[in-house]
Amino acid sequence: MAGSRMKLELSRVVQGRSRLGVLKGLGRTGEHSLEVPGCLLHTHVGTVPHLTQDTLHTLSNLPSVTQVTLSNIAEHQDVLEEFKDGFRKFAGLHDTVLYCSLHDPATPCPTGYTTNKTVSVWGSGGRIELTVAKFMALQKTVQPDWYQSMADGETWQNNTSRKRVRKSVDRTLAHLDECLLVHQKSQELEGVEMFGVVEGGDILEERVRSARETAKRPVAGFCLDGLQTGSMDRALRTQLITAVTKELPEDKPRLLQGVGRPDEVLACVEAGVDLFESFFPFQVTERGCALCFSFDISPDPELAVLGLDEERDTAGETQQNGDFNLDDQTQMTSFEINLKDKRYQDDFRPLVEGCGCYCCKNHQRAYLHHLLVTNELLAGVLLMIHNTAHYHAFFGALREALANDKLDLLKRRVLRERGRQT
Ligand SMILES: [Zn+2]
Repeated sequence: MAGSRMKLELSRVVQGRSRLGVLKGLGRTGEHSLEVPGCLLHTHVGTVPHLTQDTLHTLSNLPSVTQVTLSNIAEHQDVLEEFKDGFRKFAGLHDTVLYCSLHDPATPCPTGYTTNKTVSVWGSGGRIELTVAKFMALQKTVQPDWYQSMADGETWQNNTSRKRVRKSVDRTLAHLDECLLVHQKSQELEGVEMFGVVEGGDILEERVRSARETAKRPVAGFCLDGLQTGSMDRALRTQLITAVTKELPEDKPRLLQGVGRPDEVLACVEAGVDLFESFFPFQVTERGCALCFSFDISPDPELAVLGLDEERDTAGETQQNGDFNLDDQTQMTSFEINLKDKRYQDDFRPLVEGCGCYCCKNHQRAYLHHLLVTNELLAGVLLMIHNTAHYHAFFGALREALANDKLDLLKRRVLRERGRQT
């Protein structure tokens, strides 16, 4: 890590917290960059769900960093060791920076399995217990550009005791120190960056302690863990993130795990978060829905997407439910429409008027409705193309809003539906 090329250049900091900038010098050759606030490309075993690499690359403005998770990879360690050339090549990924995290944010993971010396991940074949030695051996076979250090993140459940939270902070720091020792001695991991993990549950002092101690270590960035959707009250989360980011150095990125809803992303960017995991469009796809919230803040009054907002006022389901269930991420949110609904069977408009994705350019809602009711796999493919495009375009709009002092306008536009509901 002495030879770290990664550099965060901030071009704007709004109200002391929201950060706009570019992470430069990424990847082992240092030729990649990533704009912040931004998100990583979410994958399952290296593949964006439903999409081949060629289909994926019909989309423009994809993030230059792809996320893979040890929970997907750990069970294939033997094969990867035999393969020798790392996971990127194994999965046939195009040129991308590879980030390896511990857990898959789209799959909730059972708790109660961490010990002082081990953490567990769940693959398709069940639980895999990782010691630091095994964890680091895996990183050497995966050969990522970034990875999250081993961490005890089991404090997100309500009623976690102060003692347990303290233990998670201590264990995570101990794991980090052990990982660093192995990392610094390993030739295979030369030029690879490690992210330290900030724990601390819902206890402010522990969060601050975790952030301060982690920041003393030679890490390239920080993962904020245990703050995922459903784990705690949103106001409390914002308060904790604000306190944590104050303790972290300005020149290193902060990645928030497990948060993807647009309204929550906006709140967390305002609290000082730079990077997110992009599992949200995947969850939307899996429930047969399409993202259609508006983030258009151009002064141009054309605003085709506005028509959609009005339409949703008359759409029943999201409104009837009021707010969504915080603990259940499979439930539909107010940022999407449900294409399985009968009202779309003769709706011959694209998912989102003016969207440049393959799906919106070539197909109508009625066709997607038909694919969904007949259980065709193409439904997932087309929805994933659009949802991925829409979500990444939202992050583009977010950066543009920060650059032009229009974050409040963007917030009003994105939160519009929620405001109307209450
Ligand atoms: Zn589209």
